[in-house]
Amino acid sequence: VIKTKNLHKTFFNGEVPVHALKGVNLDINEGEFVVILGPSGSGKSTLLNILGGMDAPTEGEIYYRGIPLHNMGKKELTMFRRNAVGFIFQFYNLIPNLTAYENVALAAEIAVNPLDPATILAEMGLADRKNHFPSQLSGGQQQRVAIARAIAKNPDILLCDEPTGALDYETGKQVLDTLRNFNRVMGKTVLVITHNAAIGKMADRVIYIKDGRVDKVEVNANPVTAGEVSW
Ligand code: ATP
Ligand code: MG
Repeated sequence: VIKTKNLHKTFFNGEVPVHALKGVNLDINEGEFVVILGPSGSGKSTLLNILGGMDAPTEGEIYYRGIPLHNMGKKELTMFRRNAVGFIFQFYNLIPNLTAYENVALAAEIAVNPLDPATILAEMGLADRKNHFPSQLSGGQQQRVAIARAIAKNPDILLCDEPTGALDYETGKQVLDTLRNFNRVMGKTVLVITHNAAIGKMADRVIYIKDGRVDKVEVNANPVTAGEVSW
């Protein structure tokens, strides 16, 4: 469903250019649950931002269902971001002056085939928090609102940057279970970046990123459920 060829990304905004991605080739299959593992600074978030159409590569090609994103027009790219991908950021990025419900509803409203915001929030255990503002929620609750927002768009592909990083063990497992259901029950493609190697056991494939490159890829014959993962 997503394919990249020789993706490079160099950031020129600092004192010295940073070559964050150095030729990444990926082929993500429809309906796959993929975990991306790699050390801090290895380029994971940079890669995910490019896959989500939020940043452009310096060099290389990226295709969504065969459509080249690297030379898509602004309008098509906006439609891609609105409908095809749901994005869960490493640092939530909720809109501070909107309630939990409004944050989720805003994303759902502009999508073509959205799910019901209140239902998704309830599934995330936030039924009694929907009228709270982000500043009135704990970190874990904010993360769950961010996940509800991404899922409510009912995207083909869900891109998750450290979705459990800020959560305690139990809440983290609940979130993984939600991601897993979205993948296995709804048949959606899910990509999860994590530092937690144990989460790799849930994946159909684990992609290791090291110094801006794909270091190795492991195929998991028997991925486990969220309930079976422990760390
Ligand atoms: P972490 O696990 O800590 O989140 P990461 O694997 O997600 O790390 P990236 O955020 O992709 O790493 O960063 C890769 C490299 O690119 C780092 O050296 C980082 O400093 C640099 N970098 C990332 N974003 C930018 C930016 N907007 N401007 C300049 N440099 C950047
Ligand atoms: Mg990161």
